[in-house]
Amino acid sequence: MGKIIAVANQKGGVGKTTTCVNLAASMAATKRKVLVIDLDPQGNATMGSGIDKYEVAHSAYDLLIDEMPLDRVIEKETSGGYDLVAANSDVTAAEVKLMELFSREMRLRNALKDYKDHYDYIFIDCPPSLNMLTINAMSAADSVLVPMQCEYYALEGLTALVDTISKLAAVVNADLKIEGILRTMYDPRNRLSSDVSDQLKKHFGEKVYRTIIPRNIRLAEAPSFGSPVMYYDKSSSGAKAYLALAGEMLRREEQHKEVSVESASVG
Ligand code: ADP
Ligand code: MG
Repeated sequence: MGKIIAVANQKGGVGKTTTCVNLAASMAATKRKVLVIDLDPQGNATMGSGIDKYEVAHSAYDLLIDEMPLDRVIEKETSGGYDLVAANSDVTAAEVKLMELFSREMRLRNALKDYKDHYDYIFIDCPPSLNMLTINAMSAADSVLVPMQCEYYALEGLTALVDTISKLAAVVNADLKIEGILRTMYDPRNRLSSDVSDQLKKHFGEKVYRTIIPRNIRLAEAPSFGSPVMYYDKSSSGAKAYLALAGEMLRREEQHKEVSVESASVG
């Protein structure tokens, strides 16, 4: 059964899109079937997947507002080996129109219902705000992956986000979990980063991924070539880090499976 993961943080520029694109490509490279849903009207995940947002026939708008079936909306020819629901400025209109619609929080969840099992992983790239698009992502998702920079105010922001996630969960999706917290753009020479990183582990324990995404110029360059970093420079520290993250996630899943099999055989 497929797992739906919303990549979210209300702050912009923390590495949501970079994580979505590169984690999806890494998962696809391990032969998993992957879908990326771009819910940010900026369309950065779309462009970073080698799809021109100005040329696409369909976008998340069609999925959310016109209830077009997913298989008619997706782009299959991405540079990352995954399927994509594209975004462009139409998605801004979708955000506005959603407000007028019946069960407006559940549109994405309903759109994915019949397709969840077609994929091993569905990653949703959220916009940098807690608007109706992000709420749709959180209603549809099994879990939220939070990328963050280890900066001075990051912990405060994170606590607020976790608080919001639990409030939202209570209203729209009781089963929503925190998938994990990912340290991005990490610079080990920065003392503050390692202090914040230590506090993060103290507060959130096992939820913090062991894999750390370093600051790496290749990660910033790759999108202008419309490519995940692993197909732009596979030996870069960024490419290796996102492959390691995919590996860590897959191992976590395996361990959970073992645990639930054990508890099932006990009961
Ligand atoms: P968000 O989606 O949260 O707004 P992005 O993924 O678009 O954030 O990242 C913001 C900017 O930082 C982009 O220009 C991106 O290329 C760059 N970037 C992201 N992660 C890294 C990294 N690990 N090292 C260097 N640059 C990065
Ligand atoms: Mg983004």
